[in-house]
Amino acid sequence: MERRDFLKVSGMSALAMSVGSWTSAPAGKKLPGNWAWGGINDKLTDDELLKIFARYKSHGIDALLPEGSNELYARISKLGMKAGLEIHAWRWTMNRGQYIKDHPEWYAVNRNGESCAGPHPPYVDYYRWLCPSHEEVKDVIVKDYSELCDIPGLAGVHLDYVRYCDIYLPKELQPKYHLVQDHEMPEYDYCYCDTCRKLFKEQSGIDPMDMKDPASNTAWRDFRLNQLVKLVHAIVEEVHRKGKLVTAAVFPTPAMSRTMVRQDWSKFNLDAYLPMLYQNFYGEPESWIGQCVKESLTELPKGTPVYAGLFRGAIQSADIASIYSMVKENGGKGLSFFTADSLSDDDLKVLKKALR
Ligand SMILES: [Zn+2]
Repeated sequence: MERRDFLKVSGMSALAMSVGSWTSAPAGKKLPGNWAWGGINDKLTDDELLKIFARYKSHGIDALLPEGSNELYARISKLGMKAGLEIHAWRWTMNRGQYIKDHPEWYAVNRNGESCAGPHPPYVDYYRWLCPSHEEVKDVIVKDYSELCDIPGLAGVHLDYVRYCDIYLPKELQPKYHLVQDHEMPEYDYCYCDTCRKLFKEQSGIDPMDMKDPASNTAWRDFRLNQLVKLVHAIVEEVHRKGKLVTAAVFPTPAMSRTMVRQDWSKFNLDAYLPMLYQNFYGEPESWIGQCVKESLTELPKGTPVYAGLFRGAIQSADIASIYSMVKENGGKGLSFFTADSLSDDDLKVLKKALR
């Protein structure tokens, strides 16, 4: 299985400050009915890819979110256009290890003073979280997505890991790490880097390192939420300037996301959201998927497209139809499957039938 947001891999896996301006979505762009993450690899020939694309498209999946290099996206975007299937570039946003050697100072620091660039990153080795407060971090990330937008035929970019490190893991994952997370533990609480501390002190007169109970300080919480929102707005502005769509894989609801991973996605201003509604990670029944969609829509601007991200391994093939109906009844736009590769012919038949 491809690596992706940590949760998927493990086991199965009014803002206080102004947040800048953004441009609106590219005019006239019609959004896909349903999506799927993954679905291809760079070893496939053009003919093989066209066949794969036709299989998805003919069963109601209009957009694919593969991971890969800019070169791969250049090749498959053209083929996607031929097959009528949108290709969106799925790329991690804040969890990126590639700058450690040259810029260790760009990485987030926890309340114990340990950097994600150091020898002991939180939870897993590939957890290398950047700090959103660094202008250079914002610039390098915006540039990366901007370059993707220059690829002819690519429909959009898809942000993943667009958050801080998990303060709280989903309930069902905590035992796998031998954790009982009933409070904000300092080793998972970010970011206390010099830049964040300085910026917050200028604003509030308080050094967050001096707080006895930082979890109870709403100004400190909002500051960190806002630093990420500002970075996302910079990406959105650039992607829209280039006429492409920008979406993200986010945590289940805005409220859960703020608490668990400091991700206030209700303020991201993206073209669509694909929350990862993996009920099995939370010990919830399938009906929870519809509840999350409904709750999220109450926080978003009217008409915002929300797609329910489904963990294919945790649902029955026959249930795809009832989940689709439930999502639509709760105001959702459609589904997104993790992963495309895991969809059987039966799954696709059920989906196609449900769309009628
Ligand atoms: Zn920081």
